[in-house]
Amino acid sequence: MQVPGLKYEGPVYRPPSEASSLLIQATVGCPWNRCTFCMVYKKGPKFRIRPVEEIKMEIEISAAFLGDRVRTLFFPSGNSIAIPTRELAEMCRFALETFPRLERITVYGSSRFIVKKGLEEMKELADAGLSRIHVGLESGDDVVLDRVRKGSTAAEQVEAGKMTMEAGIELSEYVVLGLGGKGRTREHIAGTVNVLNQINPDFIRLRTFLPKVKTPILKEIESGEFEVLSPHEVLYEVRALIEGLDVASRVTSDHYTNYVGVGGQLPDERDKMLAVVDEALVRPESSFRSLYVGTE
Ligand code: SF4
Repeated sequence: MQVPGLKYEGPVYRPPSEASSLLIQATVGCPWNRCTFCMVYKKGPKFRIRPVEEIKMEIEISAAFLGDRVRTLFFPSGNSIAIPTRELAEMCRFALETFPRLERITVYGSSRFIVKKGLEEMKELADAGLSRIHVGLESGDDVVLDRVRKGSTAAEQVEAGKMTMEAGIELSEYVVLGLGGKGRTREHIAGTVNVLNQINPDFIRLRTFLPKVKTPILKEIESGEFEVLSPHEVLYEVRALIEGLDVASRVTSDHYTNYVGVGGQLPDERDKMLAVVDEALVRPESSFRSLYVGTE
């Protein structure tokens, strides 16, 4: 949900679970912008943090338009957790004061920025009203994380995840199936299971690797250095992931890239999810979407 007339620079990038949230752009671009699989901000704009006063003004304008219709608020763009804690806390507090029925405030946050803040600052943000963070775990395998230039190690991902949970902020961890390619599929899933089991996040959200135009990883595919998994190979990854997870998390496949919609609460719905995967594994590979190069 966007209010006409508010400023927005660069591509609008938000998780599907924030589809009905009010979007107020607190940062422009991504301060990291090096992940080899991501095209979102490769052409800019350059990262910058918008002034708190501008954000407050946009909150007021939005309140005049939408008032008590705003239940959830998302502060794009990539990595708004990088905003200095005092400023982000002020934005959250002001939003809570201004929207009478606001129930949730969310940002994207890479683990490296969360670790940098530390537990005390994360608690400060939780007290100010920041209630959910979407973290791109992508993989729990250090080799894969390094190859895709994620900028965080598995140990940092665990530290950031545990810190977020301890601060009392809801945590969504995003996993990219197939990100290790054929050469690293086993390690990719084993590492991811290991990291997620240590964090025990509220949500685990699955995406399937899809090459995007003008990304460094597309060049690796073209040169044969990276081999994309087939639909069945991806489904075997889903199976191994669901089987290995020892968490109390909700799993969702809320993304267009996935071959099958696996979702449910762990551990209670594990068998139901595995049955969905097994059913899909009986289908011929030709019945799934074909591999293509994404443009957005
Ligand atoms: S995946 Fe996230 S952290 Fe990596 S470049 Fe894209 S927006 Fe930035």
